[in-house]
Amino acid sequence: MEFNQWLNERLHKTIESGLYRTLRTMTSAPNPKVNVDGTQQLVFSSNNYLGLANDRRLIYAAEEILHDFGVGSSGSRLTTGHSKWHQKLEEKIATFKQTEAALLFSSGYLANVGVLSAIPEEGDVILSDKLNHASLIDGCRLSKAETVVYQHVDMEDLEEKLSEAQSYNHRFIVTDGVFSMDGNIAPLDKIMALAKRYNAFVIVDDAHATGVLGENGRGTSEYFNLRPDIVVGTLSKAVGTEGGFVCGSQVLIDFLRNHSRTFIFQTAMAPAICAASYAAIEIIETSGDKRQRLLAKSEQIRKSLKVLGFSLKGEDTPIIPVIIGDPSAAELFGKRLQEEGIFAPAIRPPTVEWSESRIRLTVTADHSSEQIEYLLESFEKIGKQLSII
Ligand SMILES: *Cc1c(COP(=O)(O)O)cnc(C)c1O
Repeated sequence: MEFNQWLNERLHKTIESGLYRTLRTMTSAPNPKVNVDGTQQLVFSSNNYLGLANDRRLIYAAEEILHDFGVGSSGSRLTTGHSKWHQKLEEKIATFKQTEAALLFSSGYLANVGVLSAIPEEGDVILSDKLNHASLIDGCRLSKAETVVYQHVDMEDLEEKLSEAQSYNHRFIVTDGVFSMDGNIAPLDKIMALAKRYNAFVIVDDAHATGVLGENGRGTSEYFNLRPDIVVGTLSKAVGTEGGFVCGSQVLIDFLRNHSRTFIFQTAMAPAICAASYAAIEIIETSGDKRQRLLAKSEQIRKSLKVLGFSLKGEDTPIIPVIIGDPSAAELFGKRLQEEGIFAPAIRPPTVEWSESRIRLTVTADHSSEQIEYLLESFEKIGKQLSII
């Protein structure tokens, strides 16, 4: 029992510091109202920005292919797992993102790790924003290149570090397009200008921007009208399904297909999920109205919470982080919300800084005005009860 005792002692430290994590079980589909642990909750924390995860059109698209192609893909892409639906989806993603080519991975996490571990080599340097997603951090850890972290969206710091990095063979700047926990947009225009001046390549993780930013939902590259060298994305957020992708030049995609270990050694996604994702992207391209409604709702919530006296982060995205304080305070706020029937759990370290533990609200296009009103009333009530406002 020595092994379990050792783990138990370590876990106790996690509990004592207020960082213990548990699972909550959803017993209904991902709609604004979900059954969580047996009670009805209004969800204000999902990444299903356009409500596509439970959209009939995606379900029918997947169902048809499910009957034709079965449940699993049966192998990695380079052996038996590559179906015509993988091919169709990759072509669709490349057209959607306006790049020469695209490559599917089983998740966005694996796409980021696969790019960063394969492309920068020994003798290169990766300049990484301090608040980049964990999958980018893990990609940097696996890379043989050196990693230098620059202060969050701090262009002066990035410039200084770029100028100090001129002796490396190649320089890569890697950033989230929309920061997942802070809800702000990376200054891609400035980053690309610095990259040009200091001879660096740019990698953007567009997980939260795909389907949300830009007139046609193409993401940060459309929002800024710029073409980074590598765009990584996920199908698991606004697209409503699962899987990850990389977009860029044909030679980039050919290189990754030959050298990216998370592509080569992973079983391919199920063809039915590819078909649902294909349908989702077709919907996204013509969902300009929905996107505008989504961003208008986000702004309404942002403004109202600020007026109430809450401290917020981010702008112009459907991610609305409300800073509460230490992890236990954030945890208590999340619990009180759940008692009011609102599901938006606390985000704590190591995901965010200790003193910046938060409720990360997200809004979707399907939330009604009444549901938003109820959210704001509940925030006011709990904020006053816990003396946060
Ligand atoms: C969610 C997310 C990922 C991981 O994508 P998955 O498809 O869920 O693995 C990567 N980067 C960012 C910024 C994310 O928010």
